[in-house]
Amino acid sequence: MPENDFDAFRKDTLKNVAIEETNSGIFAGKWYPKAGESKYDSISPVDGKHNATVFLATKEQYEEVVRHSQKAFDEWSKIPAPKRGEIIKTIGDELAKKKKDLGALVTLEAGKTTSEGEGEIQEMIDVAYFAAGLSRQLYGLTMASERPDHRLYEQWQPLGPIAVISAFNFPSSVWSWNAMVAAVCGDTVVWKPSTKASLAAVGVMKVISSVLDREGAPQIFSLVASRGSEGGEWISNDPRLKLVSFTGSTKTGRTIYENVARRIGRAILELGGNNCSIVSDRADMKLALKGVAFGALATAGQRCTSTRRVVVHEKIYNEFLAKLKDIYASVKIGNPRSNGVLVGPLIDDGAISTYEKAIAEAVKEGGKLVIGGKRIQVPGLEKGFYVNPAIIEANPGMEITKQETFGPLLYIFKYRTIEEALEIHNAVPQGLSSAIFTTDMREEEYFLSARGSDCGLANVNTSTAGAEIGGAFGGEKETGAGRESGSDSWKLYMRRQTVTINYGRDLPLAQGVRFDV
Ligand code: NAD
Repeated sequence: MPENDFDAFRKDTLKNVAIEETNSGIFAGKWYPKAGESKYDSISPVDGKHNATVFLATKEQYEEVVRHSQKAFDEWSKIPAPKRGEIIKTIGDELAKKKKDLGALVTLEAGKTTSEGEGEIQEMIDVAYFAAGLSRQLYGLTMASERPDHRLYEQWQPLGPIAVISAFNFPSSVWSWNAMVAAVCGDTVVWKPSTKASLAAVGVMKVISSVLDREGAPQIFSLVASRGSEGGEWISNDPRLKLVSFTGSTKTGRTIYENVARRIGRAILELGGNNCSIVSDRADMKLALKGVAFGALATAGQRCTSTRRVVVHEKIYNEFLAKLKDIYASVKIGNPRSNGVLVGPLIDDGAISTYEKAIAEAVKEGGKLVIGGKRIQVPGLEKGFYVNPAIIEANPGMEITKQETFGPLLYIFKYRTIEEALEIHNAVPQGLSSAIFTTDMREEEYFLSARGSDCGLANVNTSTAGAEIGGAFGGEKETGAGRESGSDSWKLYMRRQTVTINYGRDLPLAQGVRFDV
């Protein structure tokens, strides 16, 4: 198939992952009939054409999904964790076989380049294997009791059914960071995908549900495609869902958090970022340029970890900006399947107008647009949603630079001292990812000290974007609460129980309290 024949690519991709013209977006042990009145028409941002339709859930179907998830939990939570891990490993194996097909679906629906689309599925495989290993390491601590003949320890229990609400820009991997880990912990998972990227969720569920069937395991993963304002409301107000892991904008996340807090539920929030890189005069220039360009341009600036601000030492500012502009001028924008293309489309028209408005606002506030910033038409894909990535020379007083604009818009600032660089770096409400490019150990350590980066992720000589699954992923301040994926994030998917056992014949009380009856 010629790489530019996007219609043929669409047809093949949908066929390979068994997506039909119309699809149910509701799975709970079985695919529900396409009954809902509301539906979502998936449009590819690559060429603006229709991919397929997904029927969205009614409230009644949502109720059935949650009931199913509760029932599946009763069965799943009784299976020993290492056995659960073995089943999750087989999911990783199957995803590895389907990596190309599912990656292509992400390209079709979200407009990611082929390598980024497949990278998304690789992340799912990685976290499935990580979770399989984790299933034998859900460790609790044992403490020395202050009372004679007593044992004190903690154990971890599954939470119950939990919910994952995902964003369009990582339509499947973010779900897996939560779902694979939650599953080995013994939870079941209700997934509400983004209405802008529900096809990827349907494709993933088809693969995963068939593995669970083959393994004779309960169908622990359910899907409830629904409008954000409906599904998000149902889930966040539903006390049967013990944890809501939400990924999306800070604005939506705030509403979700308020609802979950009202019912004293548990939430993980992975919200907007406004990530910054500091480039020192002692940086390896080539490496810094590549790291900043990748961070700002990859996924057309639609990663939560995309580099949105770069603070450059005054001594190298002009040289750095000139070289960065050269990269921007030469980078290939267009069909994300074409060889050499590094920047694909934005997700939709709305994203382009937000981008254009932010640029106009930045210029009004005194910023200088030095390159890009316009909508462009890609030959043969005229209805796709493409822009020229922009760089704006900015000053830290500009209010617009404190907001996340979800596209390839980079603000560049000048600094004189490392303290000043960190001040600019930390002066935003978000706190997801950060980076410093330097070969000076003192600067690097300052960046990593308590006075340094205030973000959940800190990178040295590498980009703000592109985290590995092994680390705990998440942010501070308005980026949210909690961590996902690696390290000890699993603890958020379980409830901790502190156990005290008295194996003596007396009842000594803690703190020496006496109660003689
Ligand atoms: P969004 O907030 O528009 O949507 C996120 C999810 O919320 C979707 O499932 C959507 O259907 C649902 N939703 C929409 N409106 C809702 C409402 N009123 N009530 C309840 N739910 C609603 O975000 P998006 O545009 O899909 O994704 C981009 C945003 O996500 C960016 O801000 C990005 O930084 C953030 N993000 C953060 C991370 C992270 O790990 N921190 C990762 C990916 C994306």
